[in-house]
Amino acid sequence: NKDNEDLLVMENVTKRFGGLNAIQNISLTVKKGSVHSLIGPNGAGKSTLINIITGVYKPNEGSVLFNGSQINGTKPYKIALAGISRTFQSVQVFGNMSVLENVMVGGHGQYHSNLFDFIFKLGRGRKEERITRERAWALLQMVGLEDRASEFSSSLSSGQQRLLEIARALAMEPDLLLLDEPAAGLNEVEISHLSNLIKKITPKGVTILLIEHHIDFVMDISNTITVLNFGKKLAEGSPTEIQENQEVIDAYLGK
Ligand code: ADP
Ligand code: MG
Repeated sequence: NKDNEDLLVMENVTKRFGGLNAIQNISLTVKKGSVHSLIGPNGAGKSTLINIITGVYKPNEGSVLFNGSQINGTKPYKIALAGISRTFQSVQVFGNMSVLENVMVGGHGQYHSNLFDFIFKLGRGRKEERITRERAWALLQMVGLEDRASEFSSSLSSGQQRLLEIARALAMEPDLLLLDEPAAGLNEVEISHLSNLIKKITPKGVTILLIEHHIDFVMDISNTITVLNFGKKLAEGSPTEIQENQEVIDAYLGK
């Protein structure tokens, strides 16, 4: 069964900032085809974990395997090309480009150090970094933004900008999509739209690892939930198991 294969395997990963263990001896397996969520209080180490997976941070200890190959120590752009795309906790769209253009530049922007550098290179004819107009249209249709294609992306609501960011990340055709708080700032209608989108893209072969605080949303879409607290794994299981776990209720859900 293909759905039982391991896509991402983190083994005994530790990341220190000075004297602080932001991530302490974490092991985590993301199964192919699943929606796997990371929850936990602010400062628990969730974003640090995603930054380790994408190569932004090197772990002090431990290893990260993606599709069977070790990726810890690999440069972010190579990890992106290997099939890991992401969105950010704070939305990052190119406000002065059209919605369609934002998708056409693809997820490639995600590993450039700054926006200016990226746009400058596009202007110099780095057209091979773009995806076709047809594919960009198809992705906009998938996230429900095709009606807004020719408008500046700065004219979109924050919820629509999050959907646009996901379309751009999908343009990279990732095996693994990392979403850092995708429901933050969305209203209930936009959250249900996001749930539907996630349920639509996983059958297409995109595995999802997401960080989220909106607990009803997490319980609705997740196959597996990992709870982090003070850089350590507090619990892991199905939505039902996590909701009934007294330690999780005490540390996080009860608040
Ligand atoms: P979360 O995303 O779960 O809210 P983070 O991963 O952002 O938590 O942070 C985990 C801990 O690591 C926090 O105490 C935070 O202050 C610290 N931290 C995160 N990034 C850095 C950094 N670049 N330098 C120093 N400390 C950091
Ligand atoms: Mg965070």
